[in-house]
Amino acid sequence: MSGAKKVRMQPRKRVVLIAHDRRKADLLAWVEYNRPVLAEHDLFATGTTGGLIAARTGLDVTRFRSGPLGGDQQVGAQIAEGALDILIFFWDPLEPQPHDPDVKALLRLAVLYNIPTACNRATADFIVATPLFHGPYDRIVEDHAAAREALVAARG
Ligand code: PGA
Repeated sequence: MSGAKKVRMQPRKRVVLIAHDRRKADLLAWVEYNRPVLAEHDLFATGTTGGLIAARTGLDVTRFRSGPLGGDQQVGAQIAEGALDILIFFWDPLEPQPHDPDVKALLRLAVLYNIPTACNRATADFIVATPLFHGPYDRIVEDHAAAREALVAARG
C-alpha cells in the first residue's frame, strides 16, 4: 500500500549549499548577489564551501564535513531525517570527483524526498525568486517505507 504525506516547509528555509572546487567561485558570486535574501534563512554547507561563504559574506553557516571526507553523506542523512529543505549543489559536470558515489547518493535522496534542488545558477535564481521561498510550502513525500513493508508482507 503506497501513499503520500505532506511535509511542511516553514517560511524560514533550511538551505544547504555545496560547490565542487571548480564551481566554488560561481556559487560564491551567487551567494554574494543574493546575500540579503539568503540572510533570512538558515544556511548549511559542506566544510570548504561553508568556510568560504562565511569568510566572503559574513553569513552564519552551519558546516558539515568536507564533501570528499563524508560531508555529502552527512547532507544526505539530514535530508532523510527531514532536517533540510533546499539543496543548492553546484557539482562539476566536467571533472570526475573522488567521491562521485556520494554525489550520486545525495542527488538520489534529494529526488526521493522531493527536495527543491538547484545544480546551476539559473535554477538557483528561480528558487530564490519564487514566493514559495519565503512562505510555507507542503512538500509531498511518497511513503515508500509503507510500500516496502507491504511488499515484504505480501511475500510472506
Ligand atoms: P567542500 O565539499 O565544500 O568541502 O569542498 C564539496 C563537495 O565536494 O561535495
